[in-house]
Amino acid sequence: CGIFAYLNYLVAKDRQTIFDILTSGLARLEYRGYDSAGLAVDGDAAKEVLIYKQVGKVAALKKLVSEQKIDFERSFVSHCGMAHTRWATHGQPSPTNSHPHRSDPTGEFTVVHNGIITNYKELKTVLENKGYRFESETDTEAVAKLAKYIYDTQNADQNLSFTALVKGVAKELEGAFALIFKSVHYPDEIVATRRGSPLLIGVKTEKKLKVDFVDVEFGTDEKVSEAGNLLSPTDGIPKLRRSQSRAFLSEDGLPQPIEYFLASDPSAIVEHTKRVLYLEDDDIAHISEGELHIHRLRHDDGISAIRAIQTLE
Ligand code: GLU
Repeated sequence: CGIFAYLNYLVAKDRQTIFDILTSGLARLEYRGYDSAGLAVDGDAAKEVLIYKQVGKVAALKKLVSEQKIDFERSFVSHCGMAHTRWATHGQPSPTNSHPHRSDPTGEFTVVHNGIITNYKELKTVLENKGYRFESETDTEAVAKLAKYIYDTQNADQNLSFTALVKGVAKELEGAFALIFKSVHYPDEIVATRRGSPLLIGVKTEKKLKVDFVDVEFGTDEKVSEAGNLLSPTDGIPKLRRSQSRAFLSEDGLPQPIEYFLASDPSAIVEHTKRVLYLEDDDIAHISEGELHIHRLRHDDGISAIRAIQTLE
């Protein structure tokens, strides 16, 4: 099983190239074993996401995609796509159970996941009681639905950042996971987090970077709501302080073309870049407008941390 995601910023890529990058990333993860594969990219209309899933080989997914009547030549200056190979743990291998999973039929939130959410039954029951309808038998779908639930109940009055939203999700989860989120509400942004399952980020840019590490943000969580949390109602969703983390900036301080590759394994990244950073448990990585910021799920760890960019051999 494996995860791969690709985000380009100020680097024009047509949709065919984005598909090729995603499927070749998955193909490099094939050796890890899997029973089905899927991917998600932006559609042609605003707030539209296209999801393709197939049981079997990555080659079968590639074929499925190639048969679609979509504009393969459409170019995106900034875009975030995600892909997944599944090793079924909850629900048999089937197109519906394959990832990416969505929060609702329009795909407001789209999620890929490696691992097992051990408390998904409790989450699913609570969400079903609130009217959310599940389409798959997976543990993962509860994560996508939970993201939408938090958005629906908290965004209106709080103007929730994508990071704060995913923090709210991750705080409810038990088990092992590497997760990547994409949303029509946060176009061209990506949030990734992990606990127990591996995840790393490759950075590719032509310009020289002013910083080649990321300070991880620490600070005080400001509890702003107690209403939104499902299983731990006293634990409010943190309102993010202005991020203290440092993102990648070019030496001249101007926005720069940059590409990010997220994967479970460096073997899927090396063909694009050798510069990577490994996420640690409960890191919340947010990429937006070319900048990567890493936040901590809980700020009270008391450890100051830096995620240095390493060069792969
Ligand atoms: N537990 C999830 C599922 O069964 C993810 C499995 C995986 O890591 O591929 O769909």
